[in-house]
Amino acid sequence: MTSYTDILVGDAGLAVVALRMRDDEKKSCPFVTSGGCKIYEDRPWSCRIYPLKPESTDITEKSGKEYYSVMDVPFCLGLAEDKVMTVERWKTEQGIPIYLEMENPFKKITMNKSLSNKKIINKKIQEMYYMACYDLDRFRRFVLESKLLKLFEVEPETVEKIKHDDVELYKFAMRWLEYGLLGQHGLKVKPDVMEAKKQELRNK
Ligand code: SF4
Repeated sequence: MTSYTDILVGDAGLAVVALRMRDDEKKSCPFVTSGGCKIYEDRPWSCRIYPLKPESTDITEKSGKEYYSVMDVPFCLGLAEDKVMTVERWKTEQGIPIYLEMENPFKKITMNKSLSNKKIINKKIQEMYYMACYDLDRFRRFVLESKLLKLFEVEPETVEKIKHDDVELYKFAMRWLEYGLLGQHGLKVKPDVMEAKKQELRNK
């Protein structure tokens, strides 16, 4: 991943992975070639939604609705076409729905007010966050090889799915972060584990 990305640190002290642009005058994309996009099938969300631009204001946030404007970019030849289509159709044709499905649980965490008001400096938490958000192979090994599944109640079908399904694994990673970072009920500790912990505290 690090061949094409830079790892930045956001305001909350957590990693933000950004595409590393070429070191040329235009800061061009590393995947653009004379024949087009080298990774077209896997191009990121921002390339798919282009030339639409999401508009976000307090009003749109409160209403829970999405609004878009069309960017005024003369070099986008698609804008010169007669074809008219709705935003919804554009999003579907560009394969956006799966990106939204992945983004919603991520936004639930990163845009949570309790997180934006604090700065995480604990290296272990920073590392766990990075792994859950950006290193799914390592997160899968962590889930399957650590005692995590012994501590939390996880539906058997979810355990089966996360062994080979990256989308399900990512959703589980977000539940784990929700529990760990926000103290919310993304996951539930098993009753016997909870009881053993209480007993341990009573014996202290
Ligand atoms: S579509 Fe996106 S990823 Fe592909 S070349 Fe253009 S900017 Fe780069």
